[in-house]
Amino acid sequence: MASFVPDKVFDCHAHLWRGDAYAAPLPPGFPADMNSDDYLRLTGEVFPNRTLGAWFLPKPVVKRRDQALRVSEWVGESLAGKPTCRGAFLVKPEDDPEWVREHARRLGLRGLKCYHTFSLRKPTLNAEIPEYLPEAVMQVAHEEGWYVTLHMVKDRAVADPGNQHWIRTYCERYPDMKLILAHSARGFQPSHNFEGLPKLADLPNLYFDSSANCEPMAHVAIMRIFGHDRFMFGTDFGAASHSHGRHCSVADTFFWVYDDAPVWEERHTTIKPVSIVLEHLRSVKWACWAERLTDRQIEDVFWGNAARLFEL
Ligand SMILES: [Zn+2]
Repeated sequence: MASFVPDKVFDCHAHLWRGDAYAAPLPPGFPADMNSDDYLRLTGEVFPNRTLGAWFLPKPVVKRRDQALRVSEWVGESLAGKPTCRGAFLVKPEDDPEWVREHARRLGLRGLKCYHTFSLRKPTLNAEIPEYLPEAVMQVAHEEGWYVTLHMVKDRAVADPGNQHWIRTYCERYPDMKLILAHSARGFQPSHNFEGLPKLADLPNLYFDSSANCEPMAHVAIMRIFGHDRFMFGTDFGAASHSHGRHCSVADTFFWVYDDAPVWEERHTTIKPVSIVLEHLRSVKWACWAERLTDRQIEDVFWGNAARLFEL
C-alpha cells in the first residue's frame, strides 16, 4: 500500500489518553499515557516518511465520569508545538454548555468529542443522539465554529430515522458547526449508508472520517453521495487501530472478530490476521480505486480536505 499513501497524512480520528483515567486494554508496546509525541512516533511506523497531522480526540473510555476534563486537558497540553494538529474537548451530557465553552477555550480545543457510554439511559447502544450530545452544547459549537465528531449508535446507524432526524436538526439549526460522522457514518454494514445517506445529502456542514471501517463500500457510498471532498482519512488510533482482526458485514448488521477468536484455523493453514489500521487502509484504497479518484483527489482524502476544514 506504500505506493497508494500520499506524502501527507492527516488522521481525522486519533485518540490520546491518560493512563490513570483509561479503562480498557492497550495494544502491546503502547505507553500508558499517550501524548502527541508518542502518537506521532507510533503512527510514523504505519506511515513512514510522511508528514503527519491529526484531529486528536480524548479517549472517551474513562474509569470515572469526573476524569473526562483531565483527559481533555491532556489533549490540550499535547497540542503545544504541533501546528498540524487540532484537539477536541470530551463532553458529557450533563455538562453546562458555558462551562464547556470556558474550558475548551482555555485549553485551545476547537470542538467536541462525545460518546454514547456517557448517556444516562441504558443500554447506551440504543441512545438517541441528544442523550449523549445535547442540543444546548450545539449552540456553543455553532457560535464557536467548532468541529464535532459523532460516533452514532443504534442498530442501523445512519439508516435509523432518529439518527437522521437529529443529524439534520443539528446541521440545519447550527450551520457554523461542522459535524463529522465517525467510522464512515458508522457504516460497518454499508447498506445502512446506501439507505440513509441520500436523506442527508443536502447538508453542507456534514463530513465523514473513515476510521476503523474496513468495508470499501461504506466509503464508496459517502464519496458517491456527498463527493470525495467530505471524506477524510482517519485511523481511530489506539486499541481500535492496532488490534488485529477486522469487522465483517453480515445480514443487516456486522460483527468484529479479533485474533483471539477461534476462527483462524483453516484446514490447510493458520491465518494471521493483520492490524485493523492496515485492513482499513486497504478498504480506503479499494474505495478510491472504485470511485476512480485522481492522485490529487486521493491527496485530498488524506490531507487536503482536512487542511481546508481545520484551517491548517
Ligand atoms: Zn474512536
